[in-house]
Amino acid sequence: MCGEDEPIFHPNTGTEIASGEEIRLSPSQQAGYDAPRFCQLCGRRMKVQIRPDGWHAECSRHGLVDSEWIFEAQLRRKLGAG
Ligand SMILES: [Zn+2]
Repeated sequence: MCGEDEPIFHPNTGTEIASGEEIRLSPSQQAGYDAPRFCQLCGRRMKVQIRPDGWHAECSRHGLVDSEWIFEAQLRRKLGAG
């Protein structure tokens, strides 16, 4: 775990991923359609704005996260895993 982009907290629940706590997600959260409410890096609650074409969320410390950016990252991960 040396990359700074590695998520530490779950974006939908704010659960610390490494804690091993069970994370329950709704179907839309599993699909990645729900806007994240917590910063993945620091677990802070983010300011979320829903747009017609997606959403963006802002951490007071780490700045803006955009739905398109997340979508791209998931796509890349999928392609990489396949
Ligand atoms: Zn943050």
